[in-house]
Amino acid sequence: MKYCAIASGSNGNCYYIAKGEDAILIDVGINTKHVELRMANLGIDPSRIKAIFITHEHSDHIRGLSVFCKRYQIPVYWTAGTSHGSRLHLPSHLVHIIPANGRTKIGEIYVLGIPKFHDAKEPCSFVVTDGSTNVSIMTDLGRACNNVKHVIQHSDVLLLESNYDEDLLEGGRYSYYLKNRIRNGWGHISNKTSLELFLQHRSSRLKHLILGHLSEQNNTVELVEQTFLPHCESIKFSIATRYQETDMFDVDDILQLQKKGA
Ligand SMILES: [Zn+2]
Ligand SMILES: [Zn+2]
Repeated sequence: MKYCAIASGSNGNCYYIAKGEDAILIDVGINTKHVELRMANLGIDPSRIKAIFITHEHSDHIRGLSVFCKRYQIPVYWTAGTSHGSRLHLPSHLVHIIPANGRTKIGEIYVLGIPKFHDAKEPCSFVVTDGSTNVSIMTDLGRACNNVKHVIQHSDVLLLESNYDEDLLEGGRYSYYLKNRIRNGWGHISNKTSLELFLQHRSSRLKHLILGHLSEQNNTVELVEQTFLPHCESIKFSIATRYQETDMFDVDDILQLQKKGA
């Protein structure tokens, strides 16, 4: 399976996962022009995307959705709550309503919905699997709930939220209300919580950890790297940012490299 982050952060998210000819996006939270530019850099042909899955209706997850799905006539899969909350009126022939814990087959891959705690109407994360490799995209996690722990235990590739540094958030210039909205169990998880989750629930099958959805105000790439890198000696480690797309990764290549290194 191949995968990359086209964008990741509190201002825009878009993730690509493919197996052979079956390619999907999770979220289209940056505008279509930027999605197209970044796809061109990665060698992705947008017209070959077979489905778009949307995690929830916050603008950093749907900003480019309407234009992108209409331009390329790509079906959109989302929960009834997310559809309603988005206030977007997409062409009905492109809309598919799924349960938050649904299992959707797109060609040879399955996309599994994972309900989560977040201040949206009916949010879920997604795990994409071909039956043997699980690629998990886990952001906007209000808290370290059992669903998150379970997914981490079964991930071969894990993109995990590492949203904020607790001291930067506490000392920063956000209002008391906004600070609490982020950390009250319905917003985002901190670098510290993310690290604890990773250390306690990673299994020996995990091959690649990607940290994502970093806050612009309350986090830095350097802090996330300092937090996680010392614990990633035996696996591949990456940080997905708002500034540019990641490389296109291939699970098979990573496995080969790790076998050679072992
Ligand atoms: Zn959100
Ligand atoms: Zn978000």
